Amino acid sequence: MEKIRTRYAPSPTGRMHVGNLRSALYEFLIAKHAGGDFMLRIEDTDQERYVEGAVDIIYKTMDETGLVADEGPHKDGGYGPYVQSERMKTGIYMKYAKELIEKGEAYYCFCDKERLDSLKTEVVDGKSITIYDKHCLGLSKEEVEKNLSEGKPFVIRQNIPNEGSTTFHDELYGDITVENSELDDMILIKSDGYPTYNFANVVDDHTMNITHVVRGNEYLSSSPKYVRLYDAFGWKVPVYIHLPLITDEEHHKLSKRSGHASFEDLIEQGFLPEAVINYVALLGWSPEDNREIFSLDELIKEFDYHRISKPPAVFDIQKLKWMNGEYLKAMDEDKFYEKAKPYLEKALEGTSVDLKKIASKIKTRIEIFPDIESQVDFFKKVPEYDKEIYTNKKNKIDEAGSKAVLEEVLPILEEQTDYSNDALYARLLEYAESKGYKNGYVMWPIRIALSGKLMTPAGATEILEILGKEESVARIKAAISKLS
Ligand code: GLU
Repeated sequence: MEKIRTRYAPSPTGRMHVGNLRSALYEFLIAKHAGGDFMLRIEDTDQERYVEGAVDIIYKTMDETGLVADEGPHKDGGYGPYVQSERMKTGIYMKYAKELIEKGEAYYCFCDKERLDSLKTEVVDGKSITIYDKHCLGLSKEEVEKNLSEGKPFVIRQNIPNEGSTTFHDELYGDITVENSELDDMILIKSDGYPTYNFANVVDDHTMNITHVVRGNEYLSSSPKYVRLYDAFGWKVPVYIHLPLITDEEHHKLSKRSGHASFEDLIEQGFLPEAVINYVALLGWSPEDNREIFSLDELIKEFDYHRISKPPAVFDIQKLKWMNGEYLKAMDEDKFYEKAKPYLEKALEGTSVDLKKIASKIKTRIEIFPDIESQVDFFKKVPEYDKEIYTNKKNKIDEAGSKAVLEEVLPILEEQTDYSNDALYARLLEYAESKGYKNGYVMWPIRIALSGKLMTPAGATEILEILGKEESVARIKAAISKLS
């Protein structure tokens, strides 16, 4: 059996879109699942769309997500160069374009902009397209030679017959047939000498021995033209897997507007790369059971591309948040602290509370790091709150009862020297028993007084320990006067 070889072939045009990340991930998984090779190729022949720094974003993202390529610009596997602008310098694209001309499958076109503009037809969405009328296919060999020797600008076009049809197979969409008359004679080599993406992509996939091509389904409509190129050369067509659309919750194509369309957006919003990868894996693929949490290694083991499905995949940011929370819960304490620290430092600037202690309290309570602020802000300062929250049915306590408890507890907390959670807990329990109060009847008002919140990531005595005596006593006093 031939070795499976896949490639991620991004055009460096900006941030790494979730759709691109999914293509890269699926290519990686298909290769690794089968013990094959995964390769990175940079498709930078479209000089107009090239964005400075975008190549570095690609390298960085692949690094952070663990999608390690076996071959690429960083590591030659015998199929280099791996950057199309460098491949171009070897003359490879021109050589193959000329081979097609020899075969009658391509031709020189010298039409100028004016003539092409006159061919433009209005199509839906107000966009006009040019269906080339094969004018230059009619030029004699002599005319072509003359134009070339005069240095007339030219492009090279694919020659697609007007009759007949082209059929190709996609693993998801099945057999697709299009009438050749609907296919434009697309440009293979541009007037600047660069190949188009469409042509370079085919030449490279073949010359780099790529067996499986995975990409977004926006490429489905161009595929018949690619298949015709493979056939014209007599090359084997790779296995095509065109992936379903990714939409936002409103079922619109996921776009920059949604605010979380790229890997960098998500990282900036505090998501973990491993959670993002896990989530993206499920945008169009599912395992046999309902399992949802997968490490990259587990995905490699489970990923059968025959289980990719066609319906659009909805990018649900709430679901990703939930998943991220699961990764935080499972994270090693020290690693969690290290990552949470900058957020804690920012939220608690100017206080001397023990950040590590707080980190261990919030670990299972947040979904993403930016949640930290709202969880811990009360350690810095008690927020404005309504007295009514002292009243609590479950603990059978009201404002008056709370005031009484706080007044009795105040001298105890002033006297107490050991402010460890255990010692405080034992001392307050002793007080509750002496009064015949239930545990919660005492802890409830203390926790509200210390935090001003109904929900806190820690219990009353844990908060006392973290705040320390001076601050705790001051907060209890303030609460008493608020209740007076
Ligand atoms: N360079 C193309 C892109 O970034 C790659 C498409 C493909 O995988 O063939 O969209």
